[in-house]
Amino acid sequence: MDDIQKTIKALEDNNIECVLVENKQAALQKALELIPEGSTVGLGGSVTVDQIGLLARLRGGKYELYDQYAPGLEMEENMKRRKQGLTAQFFVTGTNAITSDGQLVNVDGIGNRVAAQAFGPNRVIIVSGTNKIVKDVHEAFDRIEKIAAPMNAKRWGSQNPCADTGVCMDCDSPTRICNIYTIIRRMMIPGRMTVILVKDSLGF
Ligand code: SF4
Repeated sequence: MDDIQKTIKALEDNNIECVLVENKQAALQKALELIPEGSTVGLGGSVTVDQIGLLARLRGGKYELYDQYAPGLEMEENMKRRKQGLTAQFFVTGTNAITSDGQLVNVDGIGNRVAAQAFGPNRVIIVSGTNKIVKDVHEAFDRIEKIAAPMNAKRWGSQNPCADTGVCMDCDSPTRICNIYTIIRRMMIPGRMTVILVKDSLGF
C-alpha cells in the first residue's frame, strides 16, 4: 500500500471520510457536490481552497458565506464573521498536515479555523494536496515550522522573522500566527468531516 492509500485508510479508520481526486477541477466538483447551494458556510484561511477555485464559487452569491477576508472589513465585522463561521452548516478550509496514520495537525493565529475543525459546524470540508501528507505528528510539526507557517507569514506580508528566514524562530511578535496548535486524532461523529485529497501539490 502506498503512502496515499495508507493515509486514506487511516483517515477512514478515524471516522474522517476521504475522497481522492485526480486534480483541482475534480476537487472543485466534489466540493460543490457536498455543499448544497443556499448553505451557510464558514471559511478558514486556505490557499488550497482558493487554488481549486472553490473560494470564488463560494463568493459567487449562491451560498451564505461568512467571509472574513472580504476587502475593507472593519475588525468588528471580521470577528463577527469568524464567529458566524463557527456555527455555519459547512466549514471549508485546508490543513497544515495529514499524518499517514490519519491525524490532522494544524496551527492557527486567532483560533477560529482550528476551533471549527474540531466542533461547531455540522460538516467540515478539508481540501488538501497530497503534499501535506507526512509520516507522523513529529513530521507534521516540522512541516508547520519549516514550510506552512513561514510561507503563510510571508503571504500575509507580516514582519514575523520567519517571513525572512523561511523557518520558525519561535518569535514573540504581536503578529505571531502560531498560537493555537491542534491534533485531530479522530472524529467522534462519523461523516462530519470529509477530506478532499487532491493528487497535486497545493497550498503550503
Ligand atoms: S512562531 Fe513566529 S517565527 Fe515561528 S513560524 Fe510562527 S510566526 Fe513565524
